[in-house]
Amino acid sequence: MKIFQCGNCGHPLFFENTFCENCNHTVGYNDIQLIMNTFDQSQDAQLYADRDNKHYRFCKNKEHDVCNWLIEAESPNDYCTACSLNRTIPNLSNKTNHEKWLKLETAKHRLIYQLQRFGLDIPSKMASDNGLCFDFLAKQEGVNVMTGHSNGVITILLSEADSVLREQMRREMSEPYRTLIGHFRHEVGHYFWDRLIATNPQTLERFRALFGDERMDYASAMQLYYDTGGNQQWSDYFISKYATSHPWEDWAESWAHYLHIMDVTETAYYFGLKVAPIKGFSGMEGHVRYDPYDTKDFNAVIEECIPLLFAANAINRSMGIPDVYPFVINQAVLSKMKFIHEILV
Ligand SMILES: [Zn+2]
Ligand SMILES: [Zn+2]
Ligand SMILES: [Zn+2]
Repeated sequence: MKIFQCGNCGHPLFFENTFCENCNHTVGYNDIQLIMNTFDQSQDAQLYADRDNKHYRFCKNKEHDVCNWLIEAESPNDYCTACSLNRTIPNLSNKTNHEKWLKLETAKHRLIYQLQRFGLDIPSKMASDNGLCFDFLAKQEGVNVMTGHSNGVITILLSEADSVLREQMRREMSEPYRTLIGHFRHEVGHYFWDRLIATNPQTLERFRALFGDERMDYASAMQLYYDTGGNQQWSDYFISKYATSHPWEDWAESWAHYLHIMDVTETAYYFGLKVAPIKGFSGMEGHVRYDPYDTKDFNAVIEECIPLLFAANAINRSMGIPDVYPFVINQAVLSKMKFIHEILV
């Protein structure tokens, strides 16, 4: 993600900030211009942006401290682009749910930022049949609720926002990595398969050449995956074992990893991160000199990103914490990611 900046004092801001740590001005995210707007609330009860002379108000979910996105003052909407996609939010009468919801919103807002960077149009399911919406649901006795996607509805189990339960699930599933942003990226991949692949016969043909034929029965493929523990030879052709279960899951996994790589590379670009190991380690140099969202050549993106991830993993190991990116991108996965890049950029 980009680095944002206070419009008053120039101090760097995180995407989630609601005020500048340095000058205390109110800040909010403007998703039309992809910038943070800065406001002097001691001067003005309304939010009057110092950069573009427009009046704004915060998304209604700012009342719950789960959103810092702005809406133009004259807009008829109460909720921002990201929050207007919520169909079901957690029951806030349960005190622990607010904390979980905040974690879900943080990941979801980052997802929407990224989809907007690709210029993807994200209509709300509540307004259009081919739109997208989110249900954040708690497990209920006797009801089979699962994290997943179905026809534009992304369900995320509230328990995934509990770090202890998530770690437990990660170990049970023998996964190297399990995060909320990972769930969002994976599930929205299914949504965009319906929108970008299924609707275009030529793209669908290219998809089948890379991922396999998705017309194989999904339910029996998943049953086979859970019965047999998946294809043990996955690491030469897939990004994860779960990706072997069905071409749709391979797509969603590859898509999620593609989004991981693009976000990491964008962050590295904005921070000017550079890896230049001492003599004798040739081929491990990485320096992202361009914004990956403006770069057609995905080879160039990956070549600069891999040494940075290797260095980041090494730093984490210095601190005794898990690798940032505990995966190896093989040639088959690279071809799948290039296909996605070609569609999106
Ligand atoms: Zn400031
Ligand atoms: Zn919002
Ligand atoms: Zn999936």
